[in-house]
Amino acid sequence: MTEIFTGSFTQQEPIPEEGIAAANAVMRHGRLHRYDTSGDEIAETALLEEEFAAATGAKYCLAVASGGYAMTTALRASGVKYGDKVLTNTFTLAPVPGAIAAVGGVPVFVGVTEDLVIDLDDLAAKLDQARVLLLSHMRGHICDMNRLMTLCNDAGVTVIEDCAHTMGAAWDGVPSGRWGRFGCYSTQTYKHINSGEGGFLICDDAEDMARAIILSGSYMLFEKHRAAPPPETFAQIKYETPNISGRMDNLRAAILRPQLRRLKEQGEKWNARYRVLESGLADTPGLRLIPRPAKEQFVASSFQFLLLDWSADAVTDVIGRCKARGVELKWFGGAEPVGFTSRYDSWRYAPSEPMPASDRVLAGVIDMRLPLTFSLDDCAMIARIIRGEAAAVYQGQAAAE
Ligand SMILES: *Cc1c(COP(=O)(O)O)cnc(C)c1O
Repeated sequence: MTEIFTGSFTQQEPIPEEGIAAANAVMRHGRLHRYDTSGDEIAETALLEEEFAAATGAKYCLAVASGGYAMTTALRASGVKYGDKVLTNTFTLAPVPGAIAAVGGVPVFVGVTEDLVIDLDDLAAKLDQARVLLLSHMRGHICDMNRLMTLCNDAGVTVIEDCAHTMGAAWDGVPSGRWGRFGCYSTQTYKHINSGEGGFLICDDAEDMARAIILSGSYMLFEKHRAAPPPETFAQIKYETPNISGRMDNLRAAILRPQLRRLKEQGEKWNARYRVLESGLADTPGLRLIPRPAKEQFVASSFQFLLLDWSADAVTDVIGRCKARGVELKWFGGAEPVGFTSRYDSWRYAPSEPMPASDRVLAGVIDMRLPLTFSLDDCAMIARIIRGEAAAVYQGQAAAE
């Protein structure tokens, strides 16, 4: 019998009951705006910031409207101006070069390795081209952060981390988002905690955070923040910093707080699913699994593998066969951006040179979501389907040669 998978790759879990109750309370009192508090009430947003700072070990935290907004705010607060070049990953998603373009910056793309992390040799060769690196921990793969930080510190390059896929993850015991000057997170539905839209910015520098808070649209209400520097830090910054509204509201904060409390537990569930897929796909001919270094404490909310050096027709064949059996795979090598996939050369507003080594990797990257609505048995079935179809196409290719 041919197995067909019937689960949905886009179905996330419901919001915890505790979050629904907290959201209802906010709707009943009507004070959704983060600065609308009654008496000595502390807004849900301010509490959430305090809790996220504690969870990451950051001194300061700002909750914002999206992950993209967190990145543009970090770039602005780092002084990136119109026409400035900003280093970033070749293998990432559209909001990353988009954030650079939003502040008038020009992305300089840095290659990707077969392990799906930023190519540190390519980075080393390009460090003299920009003052800032917007580092995307794309799909939760974390590079050797010790080496990356040494390279960037020696070159005087500021690191901003895009942790959209690494909330709760760490390298060598240090949380992702705590290596660079700023850590940026998303709380959009497909990330690790879900408020529909939303994000966070964390940092340790008082002036950086004061600038970010004013940028986010605090007016002169910054004293209502709790994970923020003292009011004297704002003395000059409040006059010099434009308001570019992008606040989080209390409704979103209310549903995020209980999710943040169970983040560690969720990470363990994701990783258990990941390991089932990984072992189910081990030693599939022609299929390369991504090695996970011992120092990388990842949170696997998605799964990737490589069909390296396969022809485009063969990859398309595998994707079509898996789709017919209910398994939705995304391909980063397609000629046109589809759904959430896209490549550096699809962002035509940002000039790029051809990058043959990265093109080879991107042409083989297969990507899959791993929602927690999947059981371990579901993951085992998905692995059997991919393994069977990839093996059939691989053998067919070999026979044709
Ligand atoms: C989702 C995502 C973002 C931005 O998040 P939004 O909240 O949707 O703006 C940034 N980087 C990557 C890699 C993402 O996948």
